[in-house]
Amino acid sequence: MGDLVCRSCRTTYPFDDPRWKCDCGSLLDIRFRAAFDRDRIRERRPTMWRYRDALPIYDEQHIVSFNEGFTPLVEARIHGKPVWLKQEHLFPTGSYKDRGASVLVSRAAELGVSRMVEDSSGNAGAAIAAYAARASIPCDIYVPESTSPAKLVQIRMYGAHLHQVPGSREDTAHAALQAAGQHFYASHVWNPFFFQGTKTFAFEVWEQLGFVVPDTVLIPTGNGTLLIGAYLGFMDLKLAGLIARLPRLIAVQSENCAPLHRMWSEELEDLPSIQTSDTVAEGIAIAEPMRANQIVDIVRETEGTVVTVSDQEIETALVDACRQGWYVEPTSASALAAIKQYPQSAGETIVVPLTGHGLKSTEKLLKLAEH
Ligand SMILES: *Cc1c(COP(=O)(O)O)cnc(C)c1O
Ligand SMILES: [Zn+2]
Repeated sequence: MGDLVCRSCRTTYPFDDPRWKCDCGSLLDIRFRAAFDRDRIRERRPTMWRYRDALPIYDEQHIVSFNEGFTPLVEARIHGKPVWLKQEHLFPTGSYKDRGASVLVSRAAELGVSRMVEDSSGNAGAAIAAYAARASIPCDIYVPESTSPAKLVQIRMYGAHLHQVPGSREDTAHAALQAAGQHFYASHVWNPFFFQGTKTFAFEVWEQLGFVVPDTVLIPTGNGTLLIGAYLGFMDLKLAGLIARLPRLIAVQSENCAPLHRMWSEELEDLPSIQTSDTVAEGIAIAEPMRANQIVDIVRETEGTVVTVSDQEIETALVDACRQGWYVEPTSASALAAIKQYPQSAGETIVVPLTGHGLKSTEKLLKLAEH
């Protein structure tokens, strides 16, 4: 079907190898040729699996799915600008992480793993827990102690073993890595199969705009699971000769935790060590994104940029979105906030994903509602 290739030393491993990193310690990519047949795509059910010929799972029987995806794309005005909003908060677990979880847990089922480990600031953990439940694979989810209560309850209710780790997001990753020694590491950051799921975002946008790609996509970015996925998806379409150019991908970070912005604006080769403070955008508060170089390379290649928004701007954008009927979590509102400063040109098609549901952040939204 393809193979696994190290991003750093270029060693290749057979496709059926259950490993999630190279022997040299670096990240792996999947080398795999995606196929598309527009007629077959249109005949299939409106789920992300209608692009099954572009997804690296051998056997239909191993697909772990709730018939998710093909989320509605609607036109809206944000800060007076015309944009398309892709309603990724309407997934079964309330965030687009289900795209990645569906493919990654299908992969785990295909490999016959008996137990999985994942760490997350919340939404990826909830998604892996749900798909693990659907596949009847036991899983351990590690989260920072500060994770929103709604996300903790959700993970628990799916039946996952929840481990709350004191300290930073990086401390949580460390705890999970130790546990991952013995089990399948279903990491949404390390495991390349997760990105094979999030890439379906790009396919759907392309189809929903009439088999045309937008000019620009603004994406809340911490570890880059949606930004990298979108890039891989648009690249698949380009390599298949279905589109001529890639959309500009714009990474949006919280001003309070913006390592990628530092790296981008100061043209640094390596991830700087930065000062962070709390942000309402908890889903993208990642001080040390593992794939920082990959994200910056993608932004450069697509002629995009990295921008920051303040908590104040995020909250204003969130209230505006809610007043138009979109109940999303603060992290998602970061990309809406970024539209304000974005210099949209005449006729420029912009897509913004609404990445997570507002019901995930009741305690944060309650504070805004009481204002
Ligand atoms: C995961 C997530 C993002 C993007 O985060 P990355 O760390 O870049 O993968 C954005 N919004 C929400 C709601 C999320 O759960
Ligand atoms: Zn290597």
